Amino acid sequence: MEGKRGVIMGVTNESSIGWGIAKELKNHGAEIAFTFPNDAIKKRIDALSDSIQSDTIVAPCDVSKDGAIASTFQEIGAQWGTFDFVLHSIAFSDKNQLTGGYINTTRDNFLNTMLVSCFSFTEICREASKYMKNGGAILTLSYVGANRVIPHYNVMGVAKSALEASVRYLAADLGPSNIRVNAISAGAIRTAASSGIGDFHYIMNWNKNNSPLRRNVEQKEIGKSGLYMLSDLSSAVTGEVHYVDCGYNVVGMKAVDAPDIDVPR
Ligand code: NAD
Repeated sequence: MEGKRGVIMGVTNESSIGWGIAKELKNHGAEIAFTFPNDAIKKRIDALSDSIQSDTIVAPCDVSKDGAIASTFQEIGAQWGTFDFVLHSIAFSDKNQLTGGYINTTRDNFLNTMLVSCFSFTEICREASKYMKNGGAILTLSYVGANRVIPHYNVMGVAKSALEASVRYLAADLGPSNIRVNAISAGAIRTAASSGIGDFHYIMNWNKNNSPLRRNVEQKEIGKSGLYMLSDLSSAVTGEVHYVDCGYNVVGMKAVDAPDIDVPR
């Protein structure tokens, strides 16, 4: 990644998946700009950014606000001219609706979840690609709840499904500009976002008991796959969803229940 620059959107703290990917990119020589959605998070991003590099861009971007994405990339483009990669590690839904049945999703939360967790990726690809004059790679984060019913994942699963479909359409749109578009479908790890999902502890235990590797994925492992996807190591890979989940995606064997929690079904 020596000589490469890119934008990372969606770091909250040291547990964030985006932070795991940022550290791997940085260790391999990349220069990184971070974005933050509000002032409460800005301080933390400043401190995290300072811990791995000095004098870099930290720019505001609440992706739910009209025009915010375009102006963030204008600001970064004005300073850098061009850049080579973007990570979209952003999702949001009302946590009161990430428990119980999908059927109770409200119109407002459906629309906001789709806006922040899915449409923002399309808008980011459009605005960022204007500054990716030498080609490059754009990556988002998905979860197996896009393809299967995972208890409580609900509207977020619907949004991830649309996000994965967006990856394929965007890869087709941006391929002629030599910009690759991919997703990592990550196994469950404990972060600020995942702590809002009902019975998350149970889901992690179930994954651990049932995935072929019999464990959960670690932040560093998603970081290493992020490095692969955002670097020339994956130069012919685009429009793909790359699973980094200890094989949970292939589970077809006898299920072992997580013993310590009763999940309401
Ligand atoms: P996280 O809370 O660290 O990251 C989520 C980020 O989304 C935060 O930085 C938050 O500020 C940002 N965000 C929310 N609303 C925003 C808005 N309006 N504008 C800009 N940013 C906004 O949690 P994470 O688990 O690292 O999540 C990162 C991505 O990984 C998400 O897409 C998540 O769905 C996905 N993912 C997480 C897991 C897991 O188990 N943690 C598994 C698979 C996929």
